[in-house]
Amino acid sequence: MRTVPGAADHVVVVGAGLSGLSAALQLAGRGRSVTVVERQPFPGGRMGQADIAGYRIDTGPTVLTMPDIISDAFAAVGASMADHLDLVPVEPAYRATFADGSSLDVHPDPAAMAAAIEDFAGSEQAAGYLRLRDWLTRLYRLEFDGFIAANFASPLSLLTPQLARLAAIGGFRGWEPMVSRFVSDERVQRIFTFQALYAGVPPQQALAAYAVIAYMDTVAGVYFPRGGMRAVPEAMATVAAASGVQFRYGSTVTALERSGSRVTAVRTDNDRIACDAVILTTELPLTYELLGRTPRRPIRMRPAPSSVVAHVGVPAVCERLAHHNISFGGKWAGTFDDIIRDGVLMSDPSLLVTRPTAGDPSLAPPGRDLLYILAPAPNLQVGVVDWDTVGPSYAREVVATATDRLIPGVDTEVLDVVTPADWARQGMAAGTPFALAHTFSQTGPFRPANMIRGIDNAVLAGGSTVPGVGIPTALISGRLAADRVTGTVPDRSAKHTIVSSESR
Ligand SMILES: Cc1cc2nc3c(=O)[nH]c(=O)nc-3n(C[C@H](O)[C@H](O)[C@H](O)COP(=O)(O)OP(=O)(O)OC[C@H]3O[C@@H](n4cnc5c(N)ncnc54)[C@H](O)[C@@H]3O)c2cc1C
Repeated sequence: MRTVPGAADHVVVVGAGLSGLSAALQLAGRGRSVTVVERQPFPGGRMGQADIAGYRIDTGPTVLTMPDIISDAFAAVGASMADHLDLVPVEPAYRATFADGSSLDVHPDPAAMAAAIEDFAGSEQAAGYLRLRDWLTRLYRLEFDGFIAANFASPLSLLTPQLARLAAIGGFRGWEPMVSRFVSDERVQRIFTFQALYAGVPPQQALAAYAVIAYMDTVAGVYFPRGGMRAVPEAMATVAAASGVQFRYGSTVTALERSGSRVTAVRTDNDRIACDAVILTTELPLTYELLGRTPRRPIRMRPAPSSVVAHVGVPAVCERLAHHNISFGGKWAGTFDDIIRDGVLMSDPSLLVTRPTAGDPSLAPPGRDLLYILAPAPNLQVGVVDWDTVGPSYAREVVATATDRLIPGVDTEVLDVVTPADWARQGMAAGTPFALAHTFSQTGPFRPANMIRGIDNAVLAGGSTVPGVGIPTALISGRLAADRVTGTVPDRSAKHTIVSSESR
């Protein structure tokens, strides 16, 4: 594996998002001196926060999976996640509602889920679910070490016996066709394929290998930190600081100083910080600009679709809404054509409606609930939507659709709306917060690599490099970046629990 040659005692990490915090903890645990430079006044990056009218809003991710991977970051400095973060399981993980009026709660517990599917669609579907669950577990087991949590030397490094095993269990077939081998009810299939949207690819076109995302939420389960999602980066930053990591918040990196093939210092809007190595978690175009490099890629990179997020206050609706609610529109398959192929608004919206106050009521004023409504939307590369004109009315429409379907008659107070134009203003390429789509040609060794030819001591981390977008993957990318600086080190973490049908 290629690593940073020569001295790398002082490492500057640009960005205090999850990937930067993970890299900082890993490096501090390996005895390196680390400075994190972050333009915002607080850590978290996309796992962002806003306090509006007494509501404590999480502006980014809401579905937290694979806490073992967060725990690894704490373990890197000998800390215990449980001492710093109060993570509670979300049960049900999701409530899925369909256009025909039916609904299904998704339970990570195999017996509870089989019983729910039996009630919903019959015993054959329940038996198929248990076989599907085993398949997802095998898929995850095969992929984790060899593909997801690995630094690649080249595409050739994929050619391992594990690849043959992955092919043998159908990892290179289509995601949807593989799931349909186990369950024939189209609504049940959707519970195990809608996650393709997280990867930015239609389930009909996505490789079955990506069904590991469905392992992460439907099998391994979903969690919520008390205090809101922001509690995760805050705890990581606190532990990193206690382990000697220096943080410079409110500092924007404007340039890198170079001497030959090495970066020698990071310049910010108010400072110059000498370094032996730098880890860049910035958005890819900015990363390349700072490094003075244009990537040589034969095809244009494909950004993931984007989203509109509305943050809404409502009178307490309590159990009428689960923590995570997926409201599928009748034209689910068409959703992908709308937002990915045609670049238009969904004609029949499918929405993720999250009620974080189900996990921590203190996030809203007394007697109120906080809702987070996410509508998938075209990115600005394919999109033909003038967001600054239609954004507010579209958000009102989305909020009305969500409440009519799930909690009719409830008064809503829209606290904030974020559109693809807003994501672009925050510096996100193509106005999407989900970086590059996980198409085959943008995955694993084909995704922009975390080291750049001709530059010895700059390493990339974050959603647009390996392994990809999401909380677990951003954390892993920080660890992979640290490995590029120091070489791999013996694993200090407890081994990952692989949840199977029997073991939960
Ligand atoms: C709306 C939304 C919903 C999501 N939902 C989920 C979900 O439910 N589940 C899930 O697993 N994932 C989800 N994600 C994805 C997940 O949040 C991201 O993949 C992950 O947080 C990205 O972390 P990162 O470290 O790669 O990037 P970032 O969090 O963007 O970190 C980069 C950091 O660099 C800083 N920075 C940038 N430029 C400079 C500069 N010049 N100088 C100094 N600092 C700079 C930024 O301020 C930022 O803090 C969601 C994301 C969003 C936005």
